[in-house]
Amino acid sequence: MSDSAPGALVVVATPIGNLGDLPPRAVDELARADLVCCEDTRRTGRLLVHAGVTAPGLRRVDAHTEEGAAGDVVARITAGQRVALVTDAGTPGVSDPGARLVRAVLAAGLAVTTVPGPVAAVAALVLSGFDTARFAVDGFLPRKGSDRSARLAELAAERRTAVLYEAPSRLARTLVDLRDTCGPDRRVAVARELTKRHEEVWRGTLAEVATKADSGDVRGEVVVVLDGAAPAPPGVDADDEAVRAALRAARGRGLAPGRAAAEVAAALGRPRKEVYALAVGPEPDEEDADDEDADDEDADAEHAEGQHDAAEGRGGSRT
Ligand code: SAM
Repeated sequence: MSDSAPGALVVVATPIGNLGDLPPRAVDELARADLVCCEDTRRTGRLLVHAGVTAPGLRRVDAHTEEGAAGDVVARITAGQRVALVTDAGTPGVSDPGARLVRAVLAAGLAVTTVPGPVAAVAALVLSGFDTARFAVDGFLPRKGSDRSARLAELAAERRTAVLYEAPSRLARTLVDLRDTCGPDRRVAVARELTKRHEEVWRGTLAEVATKADSGDVRGEVVVVLDGAAPAPPGVDADDEAVRAALRAARGRGLAPGRAAAEVAAALGRPRKEVYALAVGPEPDEEDADDEDADDEDADAEHAEGQHDAAEGRGGSRT
């Protein structure tokens, strides 16, 4: 949509740490806005002072007030006003309030435009070194219970690079759960304090990075980037793999096989009996090992038979 259209909701990205990352067009839009919706009026007030913008009206719109604010925002835009939407950091609507306001404005047939800019997930993704052609931004994991196990299981099977937001105090727990679900060798990158003075990226296997996160206080803001899963080996059902991963996560939380199976069956919508069978059955590599044992036994048997034939051959004709 054009810059000159008067009534519109303008979704404006703001810095994730470094104030130098405020897009110039963001400054123009904030200066032009009749109202700026923001999560924290004091924080956004400071940003406006930094940008040299004389504060227009500021309205608090956070996860709790977004729905209620929609009517007023729609009325203002209908009357030809320009309403800017910012959050504390990054792009509104990405693990932040904004999507509901956008939907309300679109549903009223009004204009929505954006000033794109920083997104912590994308900054972390490009620093990870993992595949950027296909990726999924998975936001924050559920904190506990079957929802968490189900999401961890999805990640275990996810072939695309996955990006997770996390609080520093929960980073070690999340990396341990990812390690237990996705396996210790899956690669991960943790991007910390992006665009700030102490920006750093920890790269390694889940086992290595989980140990690092557990060995001291993690401070600042972090994004977890998980390398995509390798394709399931031939003969291994990918859906069963997701169930096994969810079971590992549930068992890792101390649940007995029956409880874990019930929880995973409910979370993934699979019959409980099937899930229980996977819970108490061998892992595919053990099956492979069993198969290998069986193959070895076959080979031994063939070998013995060959020896026997040779002996028979040496000893005379077979009957
Ligand atoms: N809307 C934001 C965006 O576009 O990135 C995300 C908001 S979400 C509520 C906040 C999370 O973003 C933090 O918990 C952290 O995972 C991540 N984050 C924000 N700023 C960051 C930074 N400078 N370095 C690393 N992670 C950051």
